[in-house]
Amino acid sequence: MQEGDGKRSFYLLTLGCPKNTADSEELSGLLISQGLKEAEDPEGADILLLNTCGFIEDARKESIDEIFRLIRLKGKTRQLIVFGCLAQRYRDELMREIPEIDLLFGVNEEERILQEVSGNGSLPTPDPVSLPGRSSTYRYLKIADGCNRGCSFCAIPSIKGPFSSIPPEKLLVKARRFISSGAREIILVAQETTSYEWDTGKYRLEDLIRDITRIEGDFRVRLHYFSPYAVREELLEEMALNPKVCKYVDIPLQHSEEGVLRLMRRGGNRDFFRDLIEKIRKIVPGVTLRSTFIVGFPGETERDFEGLLDFVEEVGFDRLGAFLYSREEETPAWPLGDPVPIEVKEKRYHELISLQERISLQKNLALSGKRLRVLVDETDGGVAIGRHEGQSPEIDGVTLIRKAGGIRPGEFIYTIITDGNEYDLEGVPA
Ligand code: SF4
Repeated sequence: MQEGDGKRSFYLLTLGCPKNTADSEELSGLLISQGLKEAEDPEGADILLLNTCGFIEDARKESIDEIFRLIRLKGKTRQLIVFGCLAQRYRDELMREIPEIDLLFGVNEEERILQEVSGNGSLPTPDPVSLPGRSSTYRYLKIADGCNRGCSFCAIPSIKGPFSSIPPEKLLVKARRFISSGAREIILVAQETTSYEWDTGKYRLEDLIRDITRIEGDFRVRLHYFSPYAVREELLEEMALNPKVCKYVDIPLQHSEEGVLRLMRRGGNRDFFRDLIEKIRKIVPGVTLRSTFIVGFPGETERDFEGLLDFVEEVGFDRLGAFLYSREEETPAWPLGDPVPIEVKEKRYHELISLQERISLQKNLALSGKRLRVLVDETDGGVAIGRHEGQSPEIDGVTLIRKAGGIRPGEFIYTIITDGNEYDLEGVPA
């Protein structure tokens, strides 16, 4: 509500992936630089903004639930603006079926939202200091959008369009902004980061990393969303040699069995992935490997699933995420139906996750006695909660540092690991 300072306020809720988080942070920075104020909760805001996710059933359901929750809160006076992937994918249906939504925008329409909200169409350079204070030790930097890969289960290309890199100069301005506003970790995200390029391929991801890490300051850079079909040695060498780059590779493989990968319209097989992982571990010693798999894809047999379990056991990923196959309209896999019963999908999901929990427990226990450099994200009494370079925020575990009196968020603390479980580690300052 317009307070003493007469500033209009907005409440911005973000659903979905780190790319959405990056887009929302950019939008709220723009709105603040236009004189609006960010409200902590919807009750205290004039404008309610929802950045939606729409790529699988569960995400759509969550977005719809949030739309109706905000409709109940908006009352007669407030404006509800819905944008992002769900709005991009189901624009007409949403406008027709939920008329309580005042304005609807798709993806990458920040400029139009700004125009509507502030009545000013030109995109000013946001004032770095005024950026809203989200947990400021790490920030997501979206380096590209869209995707050209066309995996048969995925709706993202139909939502976000073809792959397009964001100009390096723009990214470096944002990176400087994040660092000057206190970030100690910059996480590069895109649908897949390894295809990043500029200037007709003369400027690649390793060049961008090098330029970001030349920015003065004690911070680190993390990469997410590698494509297994685009991992170049030059990139791995930059990761290995650059002290400011986390030795961390997030590389969704989705499956290991050739037959299933073919149905997913993805290449590769166990041998191809085994060789790739060997190369990554050779060039980047001590690298933390994260991957993601889909269980229950149409045509996945019990034998395929056993093959996947064998592969995961053999490789020994440090981190692993898994999804139940979600049949999606307008995707090439739609005509395959959804033949794997939900009980079987869930059984396979739990089997895969419990195998990974056993592997992660062994790996975490093997870190006992090790001295790791931990970035502190928050403190709680005498305990600091942070992450070493092998722990990415919001998806991996944390490191609890005991006897951490006097330590503040944003500090890097050398920590002796004393204990761990399948997710988290414990330690004391070195
Ligand atoms: S790589 Fe495949 S799964 Fe990932 S966004 Fe592109 S099409 Fe979707």
